[in-house]
Amino acid sequence: MDKTFISREVERLVNGVAVSDGAGVRLLRVLTQDLQRRLDPFLMLDEFRSDNQDDYIAGFPDHPHRGFETVTYMLDGRMRHRDSTGQEGLLGPGGVQWMTAGRGVVHSELPEQEDGLMHGFQLWVNLPAKRKMIDAWYRDIPASDIPQSVTEQGSTLRRIAGEGGAIRREDTDPLYLDLHLKAGGTEEVTIPAGYNAFIYVYAGEVSVGERAQTVTQRQMAVLANLPSANGVRISASGEARLLVIAGQPLNEPIAQWGPFVMNSREELEQAFDDYRSGRF
Ligand code: MN
Repeated sequence: MDKTFISREVERLVNGVAVSDGAGVRLLRVLTQDLQRRLDPFLMLDEFRSDNQDDYIAGFPDHPHRGFETVTYMLDGRMRHRDSTGQEGLLGPGGVQWMTAGRGVVHSELPEQEDGLMHGFQLWVNLPAKRKMIDAWYRDIPASDIPQSVTEQGSTLRRIAGEGGAIRREDTDPLYLDLHLKAGGTEEVTIPAGYNAFIYVYAGEVSVGERAQTVTQRQMAVLANLPSANGVRISASGEARLLVIAGQPLNEPIAQWGPFVMNSREELEQAFDDYRSGRF
């Protein structure tokens, strides 16, 4: 390991909240609304994981979004997306769908399977005020287009977003990694000092930083913004899998009403009005 590497420490451990969303999809809401300021620009992280079709089969029929981006990362199962701009795509294992709602999109996200495991994540990334009303944009990134490498320690690193990743976004510059640690492995992930960052462990458990704080499966660890830290050091005694997510904060007011995230109440009312009048 790099002796000059200074790791961030865990500031807070968060256990997700079980919720039901869409037409009755059971989810673990990991990043909840009360963490939006602390983890700016991230607004939400959900994990969906079930092999019981009753938990996911109804999916997310037509619903609107405005003012931010949704990032869906599929590990197991298939989900079909259709939207009001005429886009359609099938999201399969290991693939990512990056959708910028901008000024407005109506879409459906429906499982394309009747049984078996459905497992993945949806992350919401905010847009700066100046870009909330841009045209909707959408990209399907198949698993084969996501850069994947094996480190010296034998860990597998999939770079979904950020430097060297499948996608880069301006303003928030999100870093989105899926890291698979081998038993006994340690990795140092570079994160710019001013960025808000967290990890989410979805298999096994890890220890983080000099204090070796344990983070167990289905826990999120908010990483302290230590100005002198280069990133985060993560170790695992057994095999472990986790997401590492970081981004540049926007430091703007956040106003959310369900699927709309704007900067003020007036803009939310406008969004609701535009949607009801079919202007999406
Ligand atoms: Mn949606």
